[in-house]
Amino acid sequence: MEEANYLSKFASEVEIIHRRNDLRASKIMQDRARENDKISWNLNKTPLKIVSKDNKVHGIMVKNNETDQEQLVETDGIFLAIGHNPNTEFLKGQIKTDETGYIQVTPGTTETNIPGVYACGDVQDNRYRQAITAAGTGCMAALDVERYLEGSAIQDWSITL
Ligand SMILES: Cc1cc2nc3c(=O)[nH]c(=O)nc-3n(C[C@H](O)[C@H](O)[C@H](O)COP(=O)(O)OP(=O)(O)OC[C@H]3O[C@@H](n4cnc5c(N)ncnc54)[C@H](O)[C@@H]3O)c2cc1C
Repeated sequence: MEEANYLSKFASEVEIIHRRNDLRASKIMQDRARENDKISWNLNKTPLKIVSKDNKVHGIMVKNNETDQEQLVETDGIFLAIGHNPNTEFLKGQIKTDETGYIQVTPGTTETNIPGVYACGDVQDNRYRQAITAAGTGCMAALDVERYLEGSAIQDWSITL
């Protein structure tokens, strides 16, 4: 809902394709999208493939989940918005995360609960999730790692910033 509302500032029309009839977005975000005249809805559809013409996006083929009927939705731009679950399942039981899977760091640093393991980027940021904040914390993590290695017994490590 957030992405659709945002895109509607630049696009003449935004069509939401979603696999179910229900949405999990907060009510306030749903209401905002439903009240937005530029947004139209194509619910209960599964995207099958992006269709091109003259080397450009021409549309997206979707399947109606109730009737299995396929339909081409014509458009010249496609944006994916498939949720905000951090990909941290593989760290389960090893690094401390919050209840939604974001890695927990000591505020203002990239330190995790394990000495020598640092987290940066979206995976530890459930608030901003932007390229610039990810790059910023990436730099913080590199500096934290360098300091850790300088102060640790491992002598033959080096990193390039
Ligand atoms: C549609 C969309 C539009 C956006 N627009 C903007 C924008 O306009 N401006 C802006 O600032 N930000 C924007 N963002 C947010 C921005 O893309 C992210 O904040 C940024 O990419 C986060 O960087 P990251 O390095 O933390 O994570 P990512 O860029 O997600 O990189 C994580 C990498 O880790 C890899 N990976 C995942 N699991 C594993 C694993 N188990 N083992 C090895 N590798 C793994 C992934 O394949 C990926 O390459 C947008 C995001 C989306 C989805």
